[in-house]
Amino acid sequence: MSEAPAASLAAKSPFELRVHLGDAVPEQSVRDALASGDMGFVHSYTTGSAVDGPGVRVVAWTTGCMWRCQYCHNPDTWTLTNGIPVSVERAMEELGKYRHGLKIMSGGFTLSGGEPLMQHRFAAKLFAAVKQSGIHTTIETNGFYGDRLSDAELGTIDLVMLGIKTFDPARHLALTGKDNGPTLAFARRLAARGRPMWIRFVLVPGLTDDLDDLAKTAAFAAGLGNVERVEVLPFHQMGRFKWERLGLPYALGATEPPTPESAERACEVFRKAGLTAH
Ligand code: SF4
Repeated sequence: MSEAPAASLAAKSPFELRVHLGDAVPEQSVRDALASGDMGFVHSYTTGSAVDGPGVRVVAWTTGCMWRCQYCHNPDTWTLTNGIPVSVERAMEELGKYRHGLKIMSGGFTLSGGEPLMQHRFAAKLFAAVKQSGIHTTIETNGFYGDRLSDAELGTIDLVMLGIKTFDPARHLALTGKDNGPTLAFARRLAARGRPMWIRFVLVPGLTDDLDDLAKTAAFAAGLGNVERVEVLPFHQMGRFKWERLGLPYALGATEPPTPESAERACEVFRKAGLTAH
């Protein structure tokens, strides 16, 4: 499988719409890449992020996601072959350019998506290599395929930022198209192993702001004992154009971002459970 030119990987932000970049890759090569993890599909990478883990981060945005969150702001990452094929070596080469700066700024490398564990062999190989080079590692994941990583592989990830979408199973199914059982099981496994975790919670008026459901999420998170912080992320409309350009039916066209007061109210629910939330 051949790789794309270096310039096409860098993006100003993951909000750049990217489609069909890996369409030329033969199906067998896609299967081989997924099985070996020597090659992955990457939407883009961005530098200088201060919101995707501790310090300043280089973030690689992978393609492929098994969920269909109604509020997803990057639906172009759902399809694996919308991404650019990139080898682990090439990814390390790109990251190597920033190693020194990341150390100075107490930052590191974050693998996000899409859902990075759709390409769990690639994620495992990349994290092993990044960790080996002395750079702090973080994954942003919905946790659905968390059981695909071995305990040893989990050991190469310094921080897991786990997206918990909502607690009620029926509401979760309606919101994402999938069951939240595997995500919660992954959270429990991380807790049992004492692995550092942040929780990300997207606050969407009318969808995820039910106070009773929030309290259940907070009680679950607080009971784990390994949650260092909770990030309440206000829903926004920045990804709307992608739904429209991709011809996907977007259900949240009339949904407003939450008010600062309701975001604060949600944070308070987590704080009351004993967690740090902002
Ligand atoms: S898990 Fe993330 S990438 Fe996947 S559909 Fe939901 S918001 Fe989008």
